[in-house]
Amino acid sequence: MNFEAFFATKLNDLHKEGRYRVFADLERRAGSFPRATRHVGGETREVTVWCSNDYLGMGQNPKVIAAMHEALDKCGAGAGGTRNISGTNHYHVMLERELADLHGKQAALLFTSGYVSNWAALSTLGSNIPDCVILSDAGNHASMIEGIRHSKAERRIWKHNDVEDLDRILSEYGPERAKIVAFESVYSMDGDIAPIADILDVCEKHGAMSYLDEVHAVGLYGPRGGGIAEREGLMDRVTLIEGTLGKAFGVVGGYITGSAAMCDFIRSFASGFIFTTALPPHVAAGALASIQHLKQSPFERARHQDRVRRVRARLDAIGIPTMPNPSHIVPVMVGDAAKCKWLSDLLLDNYGIYVQPINYPTVPRKTERLRITPSPLHTDADIDHLVGALSDLWSQCALARQVA
Ligand SMILES: *Cc1c(COP(=O)(O)O)cnc(C)c1O
Repeated sequence: MNFEAFFATKLNDLHKEGRYRVFADLERRAGSFPRATRHVGGETREVTVWCSNDYLGMGQNPKVIAAMHEALDKCGAGAGGTRNISGTNHYHVMLERELADLHGKQAALLFTSGYVSNWAALSTLGSNIPDCVILSDAGNHASMIEGIRHSKAERRIWKHNDVEDLDRILSEYGPERAKIVAFESVYSMDGDIAPIADILDVCEKHGAMSYLDEVHAVGLYGPRGGGIAEREGLMDRVTLIEGTLGKAFGVVGGYITGSAAMCDFIRSFASGFIFTTALPPHVAAGALASIQHLKQSPFERARHQDRVRRVRARLDAIGIPTMPNPSHIVPVMVGDAAKCKWLSDLLLDNYGIYVQPINYPTVPRKTERLRITPSPLHTDADIDHLVGALSDLWSQCALARQVA
């Protein structure tokens, strides 16, 4: 087999379809988020990042950085092993306690990323619980889909956020079948929010376990940043809440929370937990400081929502089409892969604005978009600059505006 030719052909196909991904070469600058330095053609330029999932700028929070420095100096660089073999550090123990408290659960379990937490938890539950069926929302993230696939359990997909469809599918199974309903709170591309209370009603009616990914909500919603389920007073009804330390908390890592027995079960049986080196202690220390800060500080959340409202209002006023939703994600709809890429390139090159184009297969064809994520640190002037740039480009590209 000519491996090199195979790789080249496959990559060429991606280019032809306009789906080849190019990463912007950026240096984040602690203390001046959302500003970053872009490396291009041997030179550097300043850009403003408008598509970060460090939603609140916690990656540069002085308390977080100080906690990480302190732990790094105290404990050194790495964890030194898996959690079982010398890798458990006191920071992991404290962080798991903090996470359990954040979600009002008995226990929590850390993973090296949110992806790994979903993959490991769902594959472990699905493969170990006898005759289990997993009902997966059609909009679920790749990490859940892969975990379910790996579990080899029966999988049923219910229509996105459609509680009646979920109820109908659950009704096909008798009370003796073990059922897990897996879904998200805030969906990252459309920014829509699941009807969690209604989904939980249906889960309880059928005796199903509820598995909720709050990755795009933790730190951002609820009086202590516990997510949408906290905001809606529903945390105690969700069997398993999964989250990330890498988005609003600004560091890296993933976790699940739930009953002590369930977390202990996953700790004891999940290959993706057992056989991999633990998060570095300073990462756990940074995440701990971030969660503790956001638990008692509503300021970032309030300012975040204020910025989102301002961006939306300004775009609406000049007819730039956005997908309406009740969250912090502002999808600017382009509806054409080539134009979406073109807009993103021009924003970066001519306006110093970085927004990654979102194309198929991340979103369906004809719904290509720029996914804008305002943060508490974007100023009024940043917003003016973004809106002005989009207005210019919308005219140049002869894209349709939406009449109010
Ligand atoms: C980003 C994401 C994850 C994975 O989290 P990481 O910590 O980035 O690995 C899981 N679920 C959803 C919905 C996500 O968007």
